[in-house]
Amino acid sequence: MRETFSTTTHAVWDVAPVVRAPRPSWRVLDVVPYRPTTSLQAMAHWPAGAPRPWKLDWNEATIEPSPRVREALADWLARGGLNLYADPQAATLRQRIARRHDVHPEQVLVTNGSDAALELIARTYMDPEVEAVVPVPTYTHMLVFIRAQGGRVVEVTGEDPFRAEPGAVLRALTPATRLVYLVSPNNPTGAIWSEDDVARVARALPRGVVVVDEAYAEFAGTSALRLVDSLPNVVITRTFSKALGLASLRVGYAVGHPELIAYLRRLHNPKSVNAMGQVAAMAALDDIAYVERYVAQVHEAQALVARFFARHGIRCTTTPANWVLIHVADPEGLCRAFERVGVFVRDRSNIPALSGTVRMTVGTPAQMEDVLARIEGFLPAHA
Ligand SMILES: *Cc1c(COP(=O)(O)O)cnc(C)c1O
Repeated sequence: MRETFSTTTHAVWDVAPVVRAPRPSWRVLDVVPYRPTTSLQAMAHWPAGAPRPWKLDWNEATIEPSPRVREALADWLARGGLNLYADPQAATLRQRIARRHDVHPEQVLVTNGSDAALELIARTYMDPEVEAVVPVPTYTHMLVFIRAQGGRVVEVTGEDPFRAEPGAVLRALTPATRLVYLVSPNNPTGAIWSEDDVARVARALPRGVVVVDEAYAEFAGTSALRLVDSLPNVVITRTFSKALGLASLRVGYAVGHPELIAYLRRLHNPKSVNAMGQVAAMAALDDIAYVERYVAQVHEAQALVARFFARHGIRCTTTPANWVLIHVADPEGLCRAFERVGVFVRDRSNIPALSGTVRMTVGTPAQMEDVLARIEGFLPAHA
């Protein structure tokens, strides 16, 4: 090797010109990696004196979490414990989450972000040869986890990507179906899977699991979580990364039947949920009023943003979550123009059902007023 491995973007042949790494498992060869397209790099090079850039490309909270989170973390750091593993059961947090949802602690598994819960579900339930039915467009990271098990993804395209279509999912079920992955509200369309929709699918798949990814449930104010009381094949995933504002600390969880959760625990790495994440998540739940205020502000701001685009003759779809979709003729040009004034959004137009669509995370009304003032000047050029 000519140099030590680094995280910069050398082509593989720069680093290892002669020797080849051993081929991985066939399961990995077929996987198309999840592309974490983020504006962090561009933002890191943002000129110091310029107005602060807005990171509106990944649906993170646009404000810091409750001040109580910082206090709890500072207290924890002052007491010490960086040298020790965190509680492998995340017992205190698990109990707190169980209380939040009125379930037994044995029905909750705390994970390293909800991505880790999704991956664990895929590893626990998928096999080569079996199928996972997934309405698309969807959050594609789960597709990587499913394919990594050698499982087959059956993509379901309904008539209207902006509506949940349980009928289309039911028609796609076969004896080989082991898992159904629903996202509610769906990223990126905002479609909601009602409790009835989810129950219909779950009843039709008694020997498979129905995963409901509720990463944005706090924004939507709806959830299929009550179904875990009666349907042992429904598992809900939640996260502290979005409305609760803790994306950097990686805490999520799964809620389901105690036996299903026990199966998940077999492959779960009990060291994977870090101590500061557990402390911060507890503190965030202790100030849920802070989260509710933020959620209300985001909805208020969505209305403001929609009115703004309507005024400029641009179609804008609001969602029950924390983003809007803008539909334009030149999405790429629009994104580049936004970036020049420090507004980083996500071009979703490569998704077949969403050509011409740009996704913009929405923050508070005051934040969005600043965003809209910056982009107003050059809007007509790309509409
Ligand atoms: C952001 C997101 C996640 C991942 O969240 P983490 O808990 O941070 O891993 C999962 N599902 C959907 C739909 C998301 O948008």
